[in-house]
Amino acid sequence: MEFSQYNVNALMYITPRPDLVFTEGSGMWLTDHKGKRYLDYLQGWAVNCLGHSPQCIQDALMTQSKKLINPSPAFYNAPAIELAGLLTANSCFDRVFFTNSGAEANEGAIKLVRKWGQLNKAGAYEIITFDHSFHGRTLATMSASGKPGWDTIFAPQVPGFPKADLNDIASVEKLISDKTVAVMLEPVQGEGGVLPASREFMQALRALTKKHNILLIVDEVQTGMGRTGELFAYQLSGIEPDIMTLGKGIGGGVPLAALLCREEVACFVPGDQGGTYNGNPLITAVGVAVINALLAPGFMPSVKEKADYLSKGLSHLSEQYGLEGERGEGLLRALKLGSDIGGKLVEAGRNREPLGVLLNSPRPDLLRFMPALNVSIEEIDQMIAMLGELLSQIKK
Ligand SMILES: *Cc1c(COP(=O)(O)O)cnc(C)c1O
Repeated sequence: MEFSQYNVNALMYITPRPDLVFTEGSGMWLTDHKGKRYLDYLQGWAVNCLGHSPQCIQDALMTQSKKLINPSPAFYNAPAIELAGLLTANSCFDRVFFTNSGAEANEGAIKLVRKWGQLNKAGAYEIITFDHSFHGRTLATMSASGKPGWDTIFAPQVPGFPKADLNDIASVEKLISDKTVAVMLEPVQGEGGVLPASREFMQALRALTKKHNILLIVDEVQTGMGRTGELFAYQLSGIEPDIMTLGKGIGGGVPLAALLCREEVACFVPGDQGGTYNGNPLITAVGVAVINALLAPGFMPSVKEKADYLSKGLSHLSEQYGLEGERGEGLLRALKLGSDIGGKLVEAGRNREPLGVLLNSPRPDLLRFMPALNVSIEEIDQMIAMLGELLSQIKK
């Protein structure tokens, strides 16, 4: 089928999209309307942690859809109970509230700490967040985000999100006042360009928040569920936050996200929080399948191996083509291009024949890599070879 036969104009225009319609996906590969195949290093924006349409997700959807899809959030269901148990057993948190998106999980975190502030800190409500951070696209999470321009685009903002600088503890301390109730950050700023918070910064932040009796929220929507080589990125620095949000990888491609907290902080009472689809068994059954895959013996060590291999491959490319190195944690990595050729590389990768490669450039001078966590060594070699080819064309 030709692209011109699709009438795309009934879709609201929210972003420029290439003239492609993807029709199938399997593992690291996507197929478009013409049958061309692409090696996919976006994976739905770090969502498909087990690749496209993995067998375990197909099975979970099939099995659960035959049993029960949605009894309503007013009643318990078995997959939600099981998934909450697996998440709390494998983290420092005690309670889980399931949501449908990362932004909704972060909204829940914001509400939870504001409630906690009303109960414990005389109505303190300010949450210190960071420049270049990304927390979602609802009004409150856009206000929490430190994306340039987002403070005015849908003004007025939700108030109460002063911004500090990542990896600068003094910039956080300076903002703490009687009004402060929490600090919220991504352990690795993803949309901001794969900027990791240092281990020392995470530890200093935990000490500082404890000293002032304020809460620490980690937004692990992108970094959680094995992405950084640990099940959760906060584990890299050996700290225990009070609240964590998960999204993206937790559903392996289906809309699932979660808000987790420690028992002392779980202060919602009936009426404070809810949602029609929240924790429905169809989707939480997928969550159970995904986390069981990550917890299987040998899986997380293999993520670290692949991450190491990708990191070396990117470093090698950097040396070969005079770029500025690579960085990241686990399988969330970036290649620093040294010039604004990111957009050109993305386009050339997509247009490459006969096989395309899908790359992401969150900033013009940077490529971000978010492969499936079960990417093979061959698929890393393949991408590095294709990218080398693109670089030699574009850097010429
Ligand atoms: C993607 C992302 C979000 C938003 O998640 P949605 O599911 O798109 O609402 C929030 N925080 C971080 C760190 C993200 O990467």
